[in-house]
Amino acid sequence: MFEVKSTDLAGRIGRLRTKSGILETPVLLPVIHPSRQTLSAGIIRDLGFHAVITNAYIAKNNCPKNSRKKGIHKTIGFDGIVMTDSGGYQVLEYGDVNASPESMTIFQEDIDSDIAVVLDKPTGARINRKYAEKTVKETLKAAEKTLKTKSKRNILWVGPIQGGIHLDLVSQSAQEISQMDFDILALGSPTQIMKSYQFKLLSSMIIAAKKKIPVNMPLHLFGAGHPLTIPLAISLGCDLFDSASYMLYARDDRYFTDAGTVKLEDLSYLICTCPFCSSHSLKELLNLEKDKRIDAIALHNLHVLMKIVKESKEAIREGRLWEYLGSKARCHPRLWEAFRNLSEHIEYLEDGSPLFRSKAVFFTEPIDNVRPEVKHHRWRLEHNIELTKPVLLLLPEVEVRPFYRSPLYTAISKVLMERENKVQVCFIVPTFGLIPLEISDIYPLSQYENSYKPDSYDDISLAVNEDVEKIVNSNTINEIIILSDGVFSRNLVEKIKTKIPLSIVEAENGDFQKTIDKLIETLVKIKPKPQE
Ligand SMILES: [Zn+2]
Repeated sequence: MFEVKSTDLAGRIGRLRTKSGILETPVLLPVIHPSRQTLSAGIIRDLGFHAVITNAYIAKNNCPKNSRKKGIHKTIGFDGIVMTDSGGYQVLEYGDVNASPESMTIFQEDIDSDIAVVLDKPTGARINRKYAEKTVKETLKAAEKTLKTKSKRNILWVGPIQGGIHLDLVSQSAQEISQMDFDILALGSPTQIMKSYQFKLLSSMIIAAKKKIPVNMPLHLFGAGHPLTIPLAISLGCDLFDSASYMLYARDDRYFTDAGTVKLEDLSYLICTCPFCSSHSLKELLNLEKDKRIDAIALHNLHVLMKIVKESKEAIREGRLWEYLGSKARCHPRLWEAFRNLSEHIEYLEDGSPLFRSKAVFFTEPIDNVRPEVKHHRWRLEHNIELTKPVLLLLPEVEVRPFYRSPLYTAISKVLMERENKVQVCFIVPTFGLIPLEISDIYPLSQYENSYKPDSYDDISLAVNEDVEKIVNSNTINEIIILSDGVFSRNLVEKIKTKIPLSIVEAENGDFQKTIDKLIETLVKIKPKPQE
């Protein structure tokens, strides 16, 4: 049913099989109104959207006979994949609806949806815990009723997860619904949280749900059609999104951009290259009648959302979703806050991050020091690498990769080879910590780019200090030699000194040969291994 093709962070590209075709995820499903849609479903199809979502509850109230007779695809005029929501949103808005989970199950089967949703009880952003508990319970009950009622086998059924801002309830809800026989799960009612840009809270809700559901289970995020929400939700492992936002914002003259939304009146140009924006001026757009203007902006908004989904997918394929999300995060302080907070969840993100990829890993600022690749290196260093030779030689990071090809290492390699079982060589790399020579060609230890050269490792690389202290405390070595280019942590030097003999060879600024001579002078004092 659902097959994962590639992953990066917790994001993935997958293939979801439905009776009307295969849907590649992550995917955004534009919301189509069953009877009052102005921008036709055909135009939306032509834009490249293979799936849409419409509201079965509204169809049941407005045009039940017609929908049953023609089926939902013909009713809305869309020949791709049609998902139907079942009125949960109306429950959230109006408190209750005039339908039962059973009747909505039968109706969605009657109109032949491809993907159908349980009529749930959304928690929304309510703080009242008792109420939240009640919605979780009622949603689970509705889910049971739906599974008992359904009779067709070719519809994918979506089980909703509720709990809202109560993360333990989200976990509990996700765990219980995972044990039922659903094809897709959906995280309910984050709309208000997204509207108020609470991206950090949204991340926590998604992660709380994802941790409890099986890896091969697709997750839908209700109402997540905002340019800034999509990259975050995709990075955290959401696979499907629906959104009415392209239309709702258009009605308010709000124009989507890569960086968020902007009021038309605040623009000087149509800053987009979609067909409409390429062939019209801002003035022409402003002069359109209100209805036509809404459709024009909605069309443009859909282009922007489509572009963001495609960019996210490409970033997953190339293994640079971290960089992509980081670039988006700079567009809004709340998103940046959520991005920074991912450092709390690196283990969760690390699972999906590929061990190898064709692109270099970029480090542009200290937050990048927590990216999953670093976490993975640190885990490997702690669990898989034994640094037990008696002398530890610490060399500064050099430009040439892998490090063993560098002029620095080449110049001292003969002396070191003669002392192979005596000297452990490690390079000091602020972003990763220590990199032992032997593994310096493993990805990404020789495929990374650093934008900064620190003045001191104290403030930016706790990793280096941690590694050195660990080795010193392990009692397996009895001497440390540091080739210092002036930025090695003074604090650390003071600490090591009290525990272990330490030689610091200061690099000669600008005189490579002199530096090498000084270093070799120190190294030759180590007795070589006996000749065989
Ligand atoms: Zn445009």
